[in-house]
Amino acid sequence: MPGDTPDDSQASRTSLWRRIPLWQKILAGLALGVLAGVVMGEDASLFKPLGDIFISAIKMLIVPLVFSTLVVGITGMRDPKKMGRIGARTIALYLLTTAFAITIGLAASWLFEPGVGLTMSFETGAGDTQQAPSLIDILVGLVPQNPIEALASGNILQIIVFAIGLGISLTLIGDKGEPVVRVFEGFAEAMVKLTAIVMAFAPIGVFGLIAHVAGSYGAEVLLPLAKVIGVAYLASIVHVLVVYSGLLALLGRLNPMRYLQGILDALVVAYSSASSSGTLPVSLRCATKNLGVSDGVAGFVLPVGATINMDGTAIYQGVVAVFIAQLIGVDLSMADYGMIVLTGTLASIGTAGVPGAGLVMLSIVMAQIGLPLEALAVIAGVDRILDMARTSVNVAGDLMVTTLVGKSEGELDETVYNARHKG
Ligand code: ASP
Repeated sequence: MPGDTPDDSQASRTSLWRRIPLWQKILAGLALGVLAGVVMGEDASLFKPLGDIFISAIKMLIVPLVFSTLVVGITGMRDPKKMGRIGARTIALYLLTTAFAITIGLAASWLFEPGVGLTMSFETGAGDTQQAPSLIDILVGLVPQNPIEALASGNILQIIVFAIGLGISLTLIGDKGEPVVRVFEGFAEAMVKLTAIVMAFAPIGVFGLIAHVAGSYGAEVLLPLAKVIGVAYLASIVHVLVVYSGLLALLGRLNPMRYLQGILDALVVAYSSASSSGTLPVSLRCATKNLGVSDGVAGFVLPVGATINMDGTAIYQGVVAVFIAQLIGVDLSMADYGMIVLTGTLASIGTAGVPGAGLVMLSIVMAQIGLPLEALAVIAGVDRILDMARTSVNVAGDLMVTTLVGKSEGELDETVYNARHKG
């Protein structure tokens, strides 16, 4: 503007940047990233370090944020019975949504037949088989022998167990525990602040990650598998829009649109990073800041979800198992479908929230129904594209269950939930 001093125009530029909601900036980063990837091809990996720095910065927050939020959440709850109830509801809802997910994946592939009429060769030979984790092993592994080691290695389930124990004990010792609780409160708040600071760089990080992915997948890899990719994406969208929105409306009497808007940051970070564990700090922020879930509920339900609830992975297993059966001309029986639902649910629980983990776990499902593991090579070339979608659903599912559990426990601030968040 004429007459503006350089300082004024600088200030107005800064405030314009600030006025744009974060989610819009992140989406712009995503779109520009795709554009850069398409235009620059492999050269776009030049921007990858920007994404890597961003992902490392979010991962840096996971352990301290989860630990401190959960300790503070438990000490604020002051009712051990409530904890048990929340745990039971969380697990029940996670299992229910996963069963829905795998069924939708199976139905989508059965309906659209992405593997019929496609000829793709793969080498036969010995493939790697994975073992489904046994329930006993999972249970025994929950209790850390050394909490410091659990924290150092980022074992989220063990960290949760220790944080719950510490939180309950701090409450039980009353006044003596107060100073420690206050330290955790301050620490948790600082971690939340640090998350906000890191998230300010999300548009740049997302840009770098997506530019790299968009630049490394050419049409020659994507086109032959376009149909199965399309079916997996469609099933994922249906799951979020129908199952999640439906459950929120029916069980929670909540407007699903607010949920979808509130989780956008987490969705985009999940999509570009392909890691639901890595997205955890962003999910925690969305749950508490945008959806109005209490720290206690979000601090418990989300980390558990990021570790065991993988609806997107379950959809993917359903879609790909049927796709491969079609590809090699094997007719699946009703018993096979039942087996896929069962092993797929277990395999998704055992899937780590890191990039590519679902592909490895898919071999469990394939082995169970006698499909050749070598066929996985067909899908491996485009797995990242599928991984991005399934991770977004994984994160969306965790946030949906968190919202429902929050609502059922009276730990959801509906004024915050219903407010149009500015990002
Ligand atoms: N990448 C997914 C996640 O982090 C897991 C998978 O590969 O299915 O949630």
